[in-house]
Formats: sequence, C-alpha cells, structure tokens
Amino acid sequence: MEYGQYGKTGMKVSRFGLGCMRFPSDEHEAIKMVRYAIDNGVNYLDTAYMYKGSEIITGKALKDGYRNRTYVATKSPIWNITRHEDFERYLDEELMRLGTDHIDVYLLHNMNHDNWEKVKRYDGLTFMDKMVQKGKILHKGFSVHNTLKAFKEIVDTFDWEMTQIQLNILDETQQVGVEGLKYAADKGMAAVIMEPLRGGYLLNNIPKEVHDLLNQYPEKRSLVEWCFRWIYNMPEVSLILSGTSTLEQLKDNLRIFEHAAPNVMTEEDLNLTGRIRGAYEAKKSIGCTGCRYCMPCPQGVTIPEIFKLYNSYQLMKSHWVDKGVYRSNLVPAGSGADRCVECGLCAEHCPQTLKIPELLKEVHAEFMR
Ligand code: SF4
Ligand code: SF4
Repeated sequence: MEYGQYGKTGMKVSRFGLGCMRFPSDEHEAIKMVRYAIDNGVNYLDTAYMYKGSEIITGKALKDGYRNRTYVATKSPIWNITRHEDFERYLDEELMRLGTDHIDVYLLHNMNHDNWEKVKRYDGLTFMDKMVQKGKILHKGFSVHNTLKAFKEIVDTFDWEMTQIQLNILDETQQVGVEGLKYAADKGMAAVIMEPLRGGYLLNNIPKEVHDLLNQYPEKRSLVEWCFRWIYNMPEVSLILSGTSTLEQLKDNLRIFEHAAPNVMTEEDLNLTGRIRGAYEAKKSIGCTGCRYCMPCPQGVTIPEIFKLYNSYQLMKSHWVDKGVYRSNLVPAGSGADRCVECGLCAEHCPQTLKIPELLKEVHAEFMR
C-alpha cells in the first residue's frame, strides 16, 4: 500500500480509503472485510450517520484493537439538524455508534445549497471549532456535490482541513472537477475523492469504442484500473475512497493501489484516458459543446452546466447524483432552467443551432420528475 500526506494535518494516509456505504448485507462479512482492509494496509475508513447501519457495523469492526490502527472519518447528518444543539447531539450518537471517544475527520455532509444555508443558519462552523477544542473531533471538513462556484465560496468561508469531492474520469470539469481539486489543495486542504467509478455506473454502460481502445493499447489494464490511475496520478489527491461490497472487489482494489503513486501516467496514458472520456461523451444526447457563446443569460440560467448535467444523467443511465445536483443546487440558487423566460437571446448565439429554450424546458421537466 502506498501512503501520502493528508493536507496540512500531519496524517499519513493510505492512498486507498475504504468507503463504508456499500457494505455486504451480512454483518459478519462486512466486519471481516473492514478488518481485511486494515490488515492489508488501509488506514482510512469513511462512513456517515446517514449511511444506514454503517456506523454501527464499523464500530463493531473497530473493536479488538482495530480502532488504533486506522483513521475514522464520519459525517454530520445536516438534513436532520433543526437547531444548533442538534449538531453535538448527533456527534455524540455517532461516537457511541463507532465506539470511540474521538473522530479523526468530521465532515459536514453534502454541502449543497440548502445544507450550506442550514450550516450558516445554525452556526455549524462554530460547532466544529468547539468540538475540536473539546477533543471530540480532530480535523474539520465537508463533503460536496455542488457547482465549482459554490464550492469555492464554501472553501473560502472557513479554515477547513479537508474536503471530499466527486471526481472520476468523466467529471474532469463536472461539479467541482479538477479545478476545484487544485483550488482546495492550494489552500493546504486534503482532498478525498469519492465516486471514482461514478458509483459503478461507469462500468455498467461501457461503449464499444472504449473496449476497442483498451484492447488496442499496448499496456494491458482494466478500465477500473485506468479510472483509479487517472485520479491517483494527480498529486493534489490525498486518497481515493472505494466502497467495495465483496471481498473480491476489495482484493482487486488493494492490488491496484499497491503502486498508486502520483505522476505515474505518461503522455500516451493521458491521451488514452482522454480518448476514453471522448468515447463516453460522444454518446451524449444534447449536442452542446460548452462553448458558452450563449452566456450570460439575463435570467441567470446556467445553460451549458444544465446541458452537461443532463448529458451525464442520460449517459449514466439516469444517475441520481446529476439529478440531485440540479434539484438541490442549481434550482435553489436561481440558476435552473425554470428561470428561463424564453426570450430567445441565447439561441441566436449558439453555433450548434440548439433550440435552447425548448431543450431547457424538457430537461427541467425530466429532472424535476
Ligand atoms: S431563452 Fe431562456 S435561457 Fe435563453 S437567454 Fe432567454 S431566458 Fe436565458
Ligand atoms: S452556445 Fe450552444 S453549444 Fe455553446 S454552450 Fe451554449 S448551448 Fe452549448
């Protein structure tokens, strides 16, 4: 197992962290899997109050001396918070579930528009500082599925030590993207990557062209391996979470991460992953190139971002995250397609001659369904 720095915290973490969201249904199997990961060098577990049953099983797996051998990250259930005092009440419950007296990394869970407003309303940031003083948490962070703009605002608001973002071969410029990763790393924050395979959707819908590219490439690696490799190649990445649900998957991940060091990809490798991305993108349903000639919209509609989310949603066989980003971020922030008044200004500038107002209407209806 390769290890790397975790931002400025001084922690040295395995490049592969075990995501505890998709445990096997059998509790004994789940405990065995967690312990197998730790026995094989994984020293970072990621769970959350909202992952059903996960903290309790993780707590059981951490008995018998395993707690001292790994860092534990978990998340505050922002959805359930209705007053300031709730933050500490839930944290205490999580400590009890996990059978520990402190959380190494505590995250405010999913800083979408509404959750972030709630954190500000109920003074969640003061809570985080107070808990560090009390020793109940050691490091402060947040996880996020949001736009780059909103992400930067959150990063700039507080002295965070880490962030957890979605990033994979298709999300180079989607959500927070590589630009967001570098932004956080520049501030000394650790960056934990989630959804490296887009919750597995990347593998469920592989275009024939991708198979051809892999078969023709002289260096033989699986698509999973290239996906992980593309991420850990970036020196700003602290670790990658993978939520395995079988021991076989876990063993395969451990094999892949045996040599997971940054800057290992050659120009040719990067070219290959770029062509893989291109093969997926060629399947998109709205022919928007992201040129932004249609922008700005006087009503604040973020046209290219909406089309990009929709293409990703279609490509990934209706992946909930894209829908969620639209509904929980763009619409509440006033940049959704519902703001369109059909003035037609944007369509006049579109080199692809897209019927933008009509398309926006369709996308909005689909995303809100
Ligand atoms: S048609 Fe809609 S999206 Fe296009 S510029 Fe007008 S208000 Fe904005
Ligand atoms: S002008 Fe057309 S192709 Fe360019 S970003 Fe806008 S909708 Fe997409």
